[in-house]
Amino acid sequence: MNKSYVIGLDIGTTSAKSVLFDRNGSVVSEHEVEYTLSHPFPGWVEQDPIAIELGAINAIKYSIQKGNIDPNELLAVGISSAMHSIICIDRDLQPLSPSITWADGRSFQQAENLMKENGTDIYLKTGTPIHPMSPFVKLLWMKETGYEPYKKAFKFVSIKEFLLGRWFNQLVVDYSVASATGLFDIHKLDWDEQALQIVGISYEQLPTPVRPTHILEGISSRVCEEMGIPATTPFVVGGSDGPLANLGIGAITPEDIAITIGTSGAIRKMASQPKTDAKQEVFCYAFDKDLWVTGGPTNNGGIVFRWLREVLGQQEVSESLTIGKDAYDLLTELASHVNPGANGLIYLPFLNGERAPHWDANAKGAYIGLSASHEKSHLIRSGLEGVIFNIYQIGETLERLTGSSNRLLASGGFARSSLWLQILADIFGKKVEVPLSHQSSAWGASWTALYALNEVPSFQAIKDYIPMQDTYLPIEANHLIYQELYPIFKNLYQSLKPSFHAISEFQRKN
Ligand code: ADP
Repeated sequence: MNKSYVIGLDIGTTSAKSVLFDRNGSVVSEHEVEYTLSHPFPGWVEQDPIAIELGAINAIKYSIQKGNIDPNELLAVGISSAMHSIICIDRDLQPLSPSITWADGRSFQQAENLMKENGTDIYLKTGTPIHPMSPFVKLLWMKETGYEPYKKAFKFVSIKEFLLGRWFNQLVVDYSVASATGLFDIHKLDWDEQALQIVGISYEQLPTPVRPTHILEGISSRVCEEMGIPATTPFVVGGSDGPLANLGIGAITPEDIAITIGTSGAIRKMASQPKTDAKQEVFCYAFDKDLWVTGGPTNNGGIVFRWLREVLGQQEVSESLTIGKDAYDLLTELASHVNPGANGLIYLPFLNGERAPHWDANAKGAYIGLSASHEKSHLIRSGLEGVIFNIYQIGETLERLTGSSNRLLASGGFARSSLWLQILADIFGKKVEVPLSHQSSAWGASWTALYALNEVPSFQAIKDYIPMQDTYLPIEANHLIYQELYPIFKNLYQSLKPSFHAISEFQRKN
């Protein structure tokens, strides 16, 4: 039988999503299963790995049912997963601990201490900024606090290895998930002995690193029956959601930059060499033996607009209910009547502290430049601009490290707004393209599976299989305005940093 379909399984932080594609990248069906996050203590963010396993199995099962295809026509399953999770497991691949997610901040003190000691040396080798998100830093917390599951662990894995280990009885980790642990030397493509020593674990306690095209066969009969797929279906290990989103959107050479703004945001570029420098502003993760992804995550993407909608958009929210239009669209419509630069009103978007480019949990949001002439519309526009200025600042570092680019490929919830996309084109002074499909990571995982099985000639060939929906060209006059405002924006964080830290201190006490 000429098999026609491939699944991209995307194991995210809030849900597992299975997307069934045909060979051309058209979505046939998809199914998403949500799971919960728990917060046993302030700043802790954990998940039940067994619930995620069940979610992933059901996502695959129901995407096939919804697609109404013969499961024998399924060529392969490729896998994408969120980065930085860590689970302590025993010999029988049972969890000894919950999955501790990227958002868990319990190890902030260890991160601070590492930065004063050998953090920069480790970062230069591993490409993972020293931050509580990193499993490296979490393992140090486990060691220093005598965490019981750490003491008993047979191995330490992320959620993807946990699932694949239980399904195929093989503990392998793809290069990009390995990179995101902060324990992996992205130059040598192997675990870093110094990092392992610091956290007190052995090489044998980690899974074996493999290329993203590594094929797993021989799924357990329990799992394939539950999924409703033939036992012969190959799974391809794939990567983490960041590099796979770049692949799935076609940003796989340094000429293209991928920008995703959902609740949070990220800007990433792929290059044929690893790039880090002592400033530690960006991450660099290996994807394959000759492909690395460099970029920066921001905590303050679409969540900023959601906050604006909540505090300033009550009228639009109630209007949206009566006229059946999205409140975000009503607010962007309002902001579109304001000049670029919002008459000199600048917004620092750090509502949730910030990762790239400042890596400062105490950073705060701020409107600067307010005058009596500013109205709600200016506050909205300036908010949207502030999110993009911040991403532009990360982009500056990326271009410094990896050379300049001429095209931006945009995805995520923000891409529903033509105003926000135009602001992106104008601030960067570059062309923006938006793909038709929003399932970039899942398509990247599926393409990796097709490549592993020799069904397509290369990673690069994916560019012909990503239909674009819209293009935005920069407007020169607007770009000039933003170029004038950008240095002011950039200086503001540095000037306000001491005040932000003092305010944080105050907020912690009150
Ligand atoms: P997630 O990261 O949770 O998957 P999405 O990619 O759906 O989220 O992005 C959600 C964000 O997208 C919202 O917080 C909002 O800022 C933005 N958004 C959603 N709809 C619109 C719209 N019509 N116009 C502008 N922004 C929007």
